[in-house]
Amino acid sequence: MPHAVPNLSLLCLGTGRGATAVYDGEPSSAAALLADGKPILLVDAGFGVVRACKRDFGYVPQTILITHNHSDHAAELPVILAAESDRGRRPRVIAAPDVANRLRTHRLHELESTNQPLSYFCDWQEPTTSDPIALSDTLSITLLSARHSEPCFGFILEESGRAIFAYGGDSACDPNYYDQLWAAPSVVLDARSKANAEHAGFDEVAAYCADRPERELWITGYGRADQAPGDLRALRVGDTIDLTPAD
Ligand SMILES: [Zn+2]
Repeated sequence: MPHAVPNLSLLCLGTGRGATAVYDGEPSSAAALLADGKPILLVDAGFGVVRACKRDFGYVPQTILITHNHSDHAAELPVILAAESDRGRRPRVIAAPDVANRLRTHRLHELESTNQPLSYFCDWQEPTTSDPIALSDTLSITLLSARHSEPCFGFILEESGRAIFAYGGDSACDPNYYDQLWAAPSVVLDARSKANAEHAGFDEVAAYCADRPERELWITGYGRADQAPGDLRALRVGDTIDLTPAD
C-alpha cells in the first residue's frame, strides 16, 4: 500500500544576522519544518526564536537542529533546555559532532550550576555527514558541511529517499557546497548584501545560479527586513515554502 505523503512546508521564523535581534529586535534566521501543520523540526535557536515559536505554535518544537554555535543560531538553547526541563520536557537536539562539542563546552556552560549532566536536559543526536537522521517513518535529514568561520552544517531533507529541500545554513559562496544543495528542488541559502569570508553575497549567489539548473531559491540570513535582496527572492518572516512532494 502506498504511504500517505504528509503535507510538508517550511515556515520562516526569522532572517536576522549577528546583530539583528540584539540591535533591531527582529528574530535571528531560523525556520520550522511543518508536517500536516505541526512543527516537527526547529532549525536554529538564536536570539528571538523562542518568541517567534511561541507566537506561531505556542511552544518550542521538540526536535531542534543547531547548524552552528554562533549566537544568532544557538543563543537561546541554554534557556530553552532549562525552561523546557522545568516543564517536564526533554527536547531532542540534533547537531554535527563538532558543533555539539562546541555547544556543550561553550554555549551550555551556564547549565553547569544545575549540577545536572547535559544529557539530563536533552537527547543529543550527533549525525555525521554520511549518517541520515530520521524525523519520521519517511522523512530524514542529512547534514552537509558548509564553509563558515566555525563548524557549520546545512542539510538535505529527504522524503522516502527523495531529496525535497536543502537548507544551507551560514556559508560563504562555495560552488562545491552549493552543488550538493542543488540536489533538492527547493533551496534556502544564507547571503547578504556584501560578501565576506564567511557569508555569501547576493551577487555571488546570483552568479552561481546563472549557469546552474533552476531551483526554487530563497535567501535568508540577510538581516533586517529592509536589508533583503532586491533581485533574489528573500525569505521573510511568516513566509511558507510548500515542500509537499508531487506524487
Ligand atoms: Zn554564523
